[in-house]
Amino acid sequence: MKSLFILLISVFIASGCATHQSPTGRGQVLLFSSQEINQMGEQSFAQMKQQEKISRDKKLVSYVDCVAKRVTAVLPDQSVNWEVVVFDSQQVNAFALPGGYIGVYTGLLKVAENADQLATVIGHEVAHVLANHSNEQVSRAQMTGMGMQLADAALGAGGVSNKDLYMAALGLGTQVGFILPYGREQESEADVMGVELMARAGFDPNQSMQLWLNMAKQGGDQGPELLSTHPSHSHRINDLTKMQAQVMPLYQASKGKVQNSCQKAK
Ligand SMILES: [Zn+2]
Repeated sequence: MKSLFILLISVFIASGCATHQSPTGRGQVLLFSSQEINQMGEQSFAQMKQQEKISRDKKLVSYVDCVAKRVTAVLPDQSVNWEVVVFDSQQVNAFALPGGYIGVYTGLLKVAENADQLATVIGHEVAHVLANHSNEQVSRAQMTGMGMQLADAALGAGGVSNKDLYMAALGLGTQVGFILPYGREQESEADVMGVELMARAGFDPNQSMQLWLNMAKQGGDQGPELLSTHPSHSHRINDLTKMQAQVMPLYQASKGKVQNSCQKAK
């Protein structure tokens, strides 16, 4: 079974349909169509909404919604109608899923002190989706050990279900008990793209460094996606500092265009 599985995967790769390039020029193996990956995002989000407590705090929800709307308004593809949900949980975490879904935990709002810092996280999460990192992760999981478990499960040996696999790969690992963290290159890519998105949306890119400083102070309590130790906080802050000259003009150019200042709920 093992060799058959590897053979099948090799055929996938050899057929050439799987070779792609990330926005910064990395080679990516993407085994799923955008339709398939969007469906996984949709199903995972539906499950999150069932399992997690959804915040009913109207002021808080409209604040998060305001920041998310401004970030998604500058995306190249405006055909997606992004759904934003605030989860009532102490976890310092947020995620974005393919198909147009954003989840923010109330715990994050204690670390992200203002709209610019919240936009840093939302920009970062949306960038993971934009750069096909979700597809890359699910594909990677499929091809490596997780794929083996998946094959076992398919044979009736129990274990990881298809849905558990892709939820873990989409960064929702705590829900299913195992986590597939993004790699260092994916994290850097999301930082670079995210800070550009926030600047275009009229959020002060300077605040991105402060956000990661706050995260560093927070210590071990972060959620799985933001917990990622690669790159380290100091490495990340250095890279973002270097990017300021590049993104400041985008921020300056956005001034006057932005109507809503997204006031943080008290
Ligand atoms: Zn990330």
